[in-house]
Amino acid sequence: MNQNLYDLLAAGFPADRTKPCFLLADGSALSYGDLEARVAQAAGRLIAEGVQPGDRVALQAEKTPEVIVVYLAALKTGAVFLPLNPAYTAAEVDYFLGDAEPRVFVTDPPAYVRDARAFEPLARSVPRQVPDLASLIYTSGTTGRSKGAMLSHGNLAANAVALHEAWGFTPDDVLLHALPVFHVHGLFVALHCALLSGCSMIWLPKFSDAEVLAGLTKATVMMGVPTFYTRLLANPAFTRETAEGVRVFISGSAPLLPSTFAEFEDRTGQRILERYGMSEAVIITTNPLNGERLAGSVGYPLPGVELRIGGAEETGVIEIRGPSVFGGYWRMPEKTAQDFTDDGFFVTGDVGRRDADGRVWISGRAKDLIISGGYNVYPKEVELVLDELAGVVESAVIGVPHADFGEAVVAVVQGQGDEAAIIAAARRQLAAYKAPKRVLFVAELPRNAMGKVQKNLLRERYADLLSS
Ligand code: AMP
Repeated sequence: MNQNLYDLLAAGFPADRTKPCFLLADGSALSYGDLEARVAQAAGRLIAEGVQPGDRVALQAEKTPEVIVVYLAALKTGAVFLPLNPAYTAAEVDYFLGDAEPRVFVTDPPAYVRDARAFEPLARSVPRQVPDLASLIYTSGTTGRSKGAMLSHGNLAANAVALHEAWGFTPDDVLLHALPVFHVHGLFVALHCALLSGCSMIWLPKFSDAEVLAGLTKATVMMGVPTFYTRLLANPAFTRETAEGVRVFISGSAPLLPSTFAEFEDRTGQRILERYGMSEAVIITTNPLNGERLAGSVGYPLPGVELRIGGAEETGVIEIRGPSVFGGYWRMPEKTAQDFTDDGFFVTGDVGRRDADGRVWISGRAKDLIISGGYNVYPKEVELVLDELAGVVESAVIGVPHADFGEAVVAVVQGQGDEAAIIAAARRQLAAYKAPKRVLFVAELPRNAMGKVQKNLLRERYADLLSS
C-alpha cells in the first residue's frame, strides 16, 4: 500500500472541494480544489525538473499558501522537503544547501506555482513507505552545526493522526494559523490537523494583534507560541467575548508561564492547552482536551509514545520512543548514535519528571543546568520563584563562569525592580546556592522566532560578569 503522507492528508479533504482551505487576510480564499490542482501542477513541474524520490526540495520564502503547495507537491513526488527560515542570511543558507544538496531550491513560491500551470499535472502520488524520508528540519541548534532532523512519511502520519484525535478536530473547525511555516509547529502540527480534518484555516502571514483579534471571532481553534498569548493579554481589546467562539487555545514550542496561564483564564474563562514537542519527534505530550489542564505541566505522552526519565533521580533527561520519533540526523551517524540509547530511546536533552498521575513537568534543557559549587541548580526552579515577585515580567536564570563556584547563578529579568530586594526574596524561598548572585534588568529577553528565550546569547553577553 502507498504510505505517501500526501494521500493520507488528501483523504481528509472535504467532499465539497469548493470549501475554503486558506482564508486570507485580504478577504480572498483558496479552496481545497484549488489547492489540490496546484499541488498536482507543482508536482508535475518538480518531476519535469528532474526531482526523483528522495531528492531534497529546499524552500526559503515568506509565508504564503504557495509555500504549502510546494511542500505538498514535494511530498507527492516522493521528495524530501527542506524549509528554511526567511531570516537566514546568504551565508547561513549556503551551509544548508551544501549540507542537504537539494535538487531544487524555491525562493519565490507564488511564481513557482503560477508557472507550474504549464506542466503536466502529476495525478497520483509517488509510492512511499513508512520509513521513507518526507522532510528535513534543521534544528535551531545553539551550539555547533545545525543538524537536519530526518522525518519520515510514517513519523509525520502517525503524529498527524494522533493529534487529530487528541484535539478533537472536525470539519467544522476553523484554525487560526499565525505561526511560521519553516518550523514543525506551523508546518506539521497546525497544518496537518487542519488538512486531515478538511477544515478551513485563517491564514495570517505572521502574528499581528489586529488580524488575530479579528480572526478569533471566526476561529474555533488557535495554535500559538507563548508570546502570542502574552501579546494578546497585553491588549485590552482581547476580552472574554473575543475568545468565546474558540473551543481550544493550544500553546507550545516554549514554556508557558504559569502566570500567563492564570491571567488567560481570568480574562477569558478558558485554560490554555499546553503541549510539548520538538523537531525530532513533532508532538510528544499534551494536556487533555477533556480533563484537567494544569499550569506548568505539559500533560501526558500521546498514545503510542513511550516516555521515561533517564538516570536514577526523580528529575532527569526525558527519553522517548514511538512512531513519530525521527530516524536520525542527516549525514551525522555519530551524533545520531550518541543521542539514542541502546534500546532505541531518543535522549531529548530536556530535563523533567513525571508525577504520580503520569503527567510530565519540564524543568529546562540539560545544557542549561547550572553547576555551582558542585551543586546542581535547575534554572526553572529559580525562575518560578522570581516570576512571582513584583516587577518581574519574566526571568531567565543562567550560569556564568565564577572563580570559586565554577558557575554562579545569575538572573536576567524582564521588568523592573531592586536587585538586592529580589536576591533577598529569592533567598527566603530557596537554598542559598540556588539564589542568584546578581540580577540584571532588561527591557526584553532575547527570543528566537518561536518565542524561545535564547539563553546561549545571555550566557555570551554576561560571560565576564563575575570572572573579570
Ligand atoms: P524545536 O525543535 O525548535 O521545536 O525545539 C524543541 C524544544 O522546545 C524542546 O526540546 C523543548 O526544549 C522546547 N519546548 C517545546 N515545547 C515546550 C513546552 N511546552 N514547554 C517547555 N519547553 C518546550
